[in-house]
Amino acid sequence: MAGTSFTVNGATETFGIIGRPVRHSLSPAMHNASFQALGMNRIYVPLPTSSIGDGIAGLKALGFRGASVTIPYKQDVLPFIDVLDPVARRIGAVNTLLIREGESGGEKIVHGFNTDWIGANRALEEKIRLRGSRVLIVGAGGSARAIGFGLLEAGAGVVICNRTVDTGKKLAEQLDCPFYPLERIGQASADILVNATSVGMVPETDRTPVPQDLLPGFAVVMDIVYAPRRTRLLREAAAAGCQVVDGLAMLLYQGAAQFELWTGEEAPLEVMREVLADRLRE
Ligand code: NAP
Repeated sequence: MAGTSFTVNGATETFGIIGRPVRHSLSPAMHNASFQALGMNRIYVPLPTSSIGDGIAGLKALGFRGASVTIPYKQDVLPFIDVLDPVARRIGAVNTLLIREGESGGEKIVHGFNTDWIGANRALEEKIRLRGSRVLIVGAGGSARAIGFGLLEAGAGVVICNRTVDTGKKLAEQLDCPFYPLERIGQASADILVNATSVGMVPETDRTPVPQDLLPGFAVVMDIVYAPRRTRLLREAAAAGCQVVDGLAMLLYQGAAQFELWTGEEAPLEVMREVLADRLRE
């Protein structure tokens, strides 16, 4: 592996993650390992942020080349972006910033992207062709929204199912797709099931959003919960004969897409996967 020693010097390019809190983020470990593996003079740092406007001004003033954006700023960051990717605009949330010099020099241009949908699509596409598939998404929060718009980009059909009817119906209207309340999930049929709720996450690992008897109807089941990696939903889906995709895959591929936007190089997937797997070891 190239570049196993790591030095910071006057020419080091800086990247970071803005959010609150950021101390539990896996992104610094994943991106720094990737920069090192490819011998790049770049560093990625946690940037706990109390004001998104000040945070963006700080990134520009301090010469940062890019950043991840996490909770609670994925939507609040939008007014501070100069050039917004069209899919991120439809999703209404940004998790990746690329900061470029303006034409005249000195001026900084902030580009905004959403790589969560890219991560989810790539994770699913390892198992099944998305174009023409029908995907049942359980959940209607920020992740469900990004995944839903991303699946439409890939040419898949989407169905939304959510506990709170108003929230679910609103997202389904925006996606122009069918909606089912969670208690009627059995009436929805699809090729792929995606859990985009937090149900099953630590500490409530004995919970699952979907009754076990419905699982044999799906070819692929993806759980975006990554703590634990092997959720009850995924264990039951595997037992039912479905192909399963865990939350690490989406996390990995959204990070890989960030890396590629920032560097223009192919991401070192195995390095990134190893870092995440190590951090998420149960
Ligand atoms: P969010 O915006 O807060 O949305 C949460 C969703 O979960 C809502 O649809 C909510 O339904 C539903 N929900 C919560 N508790 C529930 C319960 N007891 N029963 C049924 N539904 C319930 O959260 P988010 O940002 O989308 O994140 C969701 C999960 O995805 C989290 O566990 C997060 O860690 C994970 N995540 C993973 C990745 C990855 O890369 N793998 C990326 C982002 C997020 P209501 O509308 O009824 O409240």
